[in-house]
Amino acid sequence: MRIIDHVIAGHSGGAAGRSGDVYDPNTGQIQARVNLGTQADLDRAVAAAQAAQPAWAATNPQRRARVMFAFKALVEAHMDELAHLLSSEHGKVIADARGDIQRGLEVIEFACGIPHVLKGEYTQGAGPGIDVYSMRQPLGIGAGITPFNFPAMIPLWMSGVAIACGNAFILKPSERDPSVPVRLGELFLEAGLPEGIFQVVHGDKEMVDAILDHPAISAVSFVGSSDIAHYVYSRGVAAGKRVQAMGGAKNHGIVMPDADLDQVVADLSGAAFGSAGERCMALPVVVPVGDKTADALREKLIPAIRALRVGVSTDAEAHYGPVVNAAHKQRVENWIQTGVDEGAELVVDGRGFALQGHEEGFFIGPSLFDRVTPDMQAYKEEIFGPVLQIVRAPDFETALRLPSDHQYGNGVAIFTRNGHAAREFAARVNVGMVGINVPIPVPVAYHTFGGWKRSAFGDTNQHGMEGVRFWTKVKTITQRWPDGSPDGGNAFVIPTMG
Ligand code: NAD
Repeated sequence: MRIIDHVIAGHSGGAAGRSGDVYDPNTGQIQARVNLGTQADLDRAVAAAQAAQPAWAATNPQRRARVMFAFKALVEAHMDELAHLLSSEHGKVIADARGDIQRGLEVIEFACGIPHVLKGEYTQGAGPGIDVYSMRQPLGIGAGITPFNFPAMIPLWMSGVAIACGNAFILKPSERDPSVPVRLGELFLEAGLPEGIFQVVHGDKEMVDAILDHPAISAVSFVGSSDIAHYVYSRGVAAGKRVQAMGGAKNHGIVMPDADLDQVVADLSGAAFGSAGERCMALPVVVPVGDKTADALREKLIPAIRALRVGVSTDAEAHYGPVVNAAHKQRVENWIQTGVDEGAELVVDGRGFALQGHEEGFFIGPSLFDRVTPDMQAYKEEIFGPVLQIVRAPDFETALRLPSDHQYGNGVAIFTRNGHAAREFAARVNVGMVGINVPIPVPVAYHTFGGWKRSAFGDTNQHGMEGVRFWTKVKTITQRWPDGSPDGGNAFVIPTMG
């Protein structure tokens, strides 16, 4: 059986102890075991990071950027291998796996511009003979704890910016699909990154707690489900760390009566069912405004959903593949039953789907609910599967209130031809990322990613300038070079510029 190991101090390996099963979701079989690390493994990684980080921080930013350029070229050269590896553990189709890697690489491209981004601010003559300037310095050692659903993109969101800013970065990836993070670690080394600057420690709660409590780790970036995000945020902050913790989501798509319904159906098919719905920016709730819109949309959605092809992740024709493991498949199917029990109308039932020749795989057919209402648990909670819910709204104000009042506030979209309605919606909706005729409004790398409410704890987003702010601290220097003449000031009074 293949063993997936840590990458510590430039080498693969760690103390043999507990291990976790890594499945091939297409077959339902265990394909590898991942070593679940301990405090001792983390201590070794921290020691290597401490040894390497000061020299890395002192490396000029242009040289640091050159490593990012080299890393980007290496990932591109290994794209095929990485996409297949990612797909074989996650279950997303190959084209989608490439997208996962590519979106991560776009953050690396942003990080290639770090010399420009890290230039500080300067004020000449803030007072007599006084200049003020600021510099952004790295925090030291940062850690990232990431979810299973984007095993390349999310580690690269964090590490690209953290490393380019001069930090050492320790990644604790999901134990469900840990191989791609290991390969990224190897490619960083090949790109010339010093040992100890990007390391991978595998593990579960034991490793997460060790990271949160480790006194030498200054900052933790987390992405995962909301309860764990809140736990990580609280425990990390209590230990005096800087923490950003992104959580779950339940994104809504508002469909105004004037929307192009054929386009909406095409957009929704991808946004609700792509990657089997295992995306925090999936669109699992659609809110048609007015019954006429709802009826027309439903009529068009049914055949489109029935036509979706569910297949193994290497099937180039498949729209989506299996979900990540058996427990998650069961969880999604339980939520479908909850929806039925709560009185929603199950229009298309994806349960009991079996792919010929892959009966043990973790496949779920697409499901569509109509007449879902805001009081239902199946509406309130994240399902994270190939399930689309129609929540009918009588008017724009009701439609606006639904995502605004929901516990999650990651993304939202509005489909309309009316610029005024779109503008009003974007300004008033209580959600962090908004799409206007864009179903999955994941911001580009040089903007910034982050939700509101229970979708994110902490006050800085991922990547872009917000990422730079998270991974650096500002130092402000006030300097005075007197010309020798007495300044006549009163040293006992707080200096002012008056
Ligand atoms: P998860 O919360 O189960 O796991 C995330 C990380 O936390 C993993 O590294 C895991 O090992 C660790 N972990 C799990 N249980 C823990 C515990 N009890 N204590 C400490 N650490 C623990 O999430 P997942 O199932 O891997 O990923 C899916 C979730 O992530 C969904 O809720 C999805 O919406 C969310 N997500 C959010 C974003 C975002 O940016 N907001 C992006 C992607 C995914």
